[in-house]
Amino acid sequence: MSISYFLNNPRPLKIVELDENHKFILNETNLKSILFHRKARNKPVCVISIAGAFRKGKSFLLNFFIRFFRNGGRDGWLLNEHDLLKGFHWRGGSDRDTTGIFMWSEPFVLRTVLNEEVAILLMDTQGSFDSSSTIKDCASLFALSLMTSSMQIYNLSQNVQEDDLQNLHLFSDYGRLALESTSKTAFQSLIFLIRDWSYDYEHEYGFGGGEEFLTKRFNCNIDNNEIKETRNFIKKCFKDITCFLMPHPGLKASTNPYFDGKLVDIDPLFRVQVVNFVEGLFQEKMFQIKEINGGKVTATELFEYFKIYCLAFQD
Ligand code: GDP
Ligand code: MG
Repeated sequence: MSISYFLNNPRPLKIVELDENHKFILNETNLKSILFHRKARNKPVCVISIAGAFRKGKSFLLNFFIRFFRNGGRDGWLLNEHDLLKGFHWRGGSDRDTTGIFMWSEPFVLRTVLNEEVAILLMDTQGSFDSSSTIKDCASLFALSLMTSSMQIYNLSQNVQEDDLQNLHLFSDYGRLALESTSKTAFQSLIFLIRDWSYDYEHEYGFGGGEEFLTKRFNCNIDNNEIKETRNFIKKCFKDITCFLMPHPGLKASTNPYFDGKLVDIDPLFRVQVVNFVEGLFQEKMFQIKEINGGKVTATELFEYFKIYCLAFQD
């Protein structure tokens, strides 16, 4: 397919998959069509990646980002209730349970407070964490996502379990080893996104409640070295760690097979919090341009890093 086809039909493109020998295959044609896109090339990039297990609403959420950018980030970008949520396949579809990394074919351009144009790239990383045979694949994929993104959303359902932290410890360890990083903070921003949060009487929805919740979760007083080590390791790996508590989207959006993505069918509370989440990430204090070895990276440079990083996992 030609590059013009990609430009005219924005869609998710698979950029990384695993072959039967558990080796990464980088789809250079797909990746190049995005990173050498006229809107992205030579601009510094901000790569937003969402990662986590299947069927937890990752792709669904990314479509709100697409909508935000399509509307130029203007107020009211989510007000038209009869619009359909479109973009990444968030139900059905053959790619649904495929382990791999997808990227939205269309880069978005954002102007920072310093009047600098940045290309925004959206990445969807999914894998299965449920068997020992897949956990290694998943760890490498997640690690690659950490290495190539500047803002990593860790999508979790209902709570942060000890397992989720142990997995994250493993993924970041893999990533750090592959980077051969000696610097203390190997990665940039990590955002825990807790879906279907139901204890808003304890910690409110949003970044504020998330911060309280995470502080509590990270400062547990259990006298267990492994648990402490996991938390310390994670804290050291990231420049910035935040958490957002997201309400349930309502039964129609989560269980009704006829739900077609109409905004009016999604719980208003969820819609309010999605606006807070997306807009919050693009506030100056949270926004991160991709940096490698302390320098900002352009889209075309990122293409080379993808190649190098994929090779780092080949043995
Ligand atoms: P992914 O595999 O993580 O990318 O999940 P999808 O985005 O494909 O969503 C899977 C299903 O979960 C869809 O039917 C969505 O309507 C539903 N869904 C989306 N967001 C949420 C959420 O926050 N909570 C719940 N319970 N379901 C959601
Ligand atoms: Mg998905």
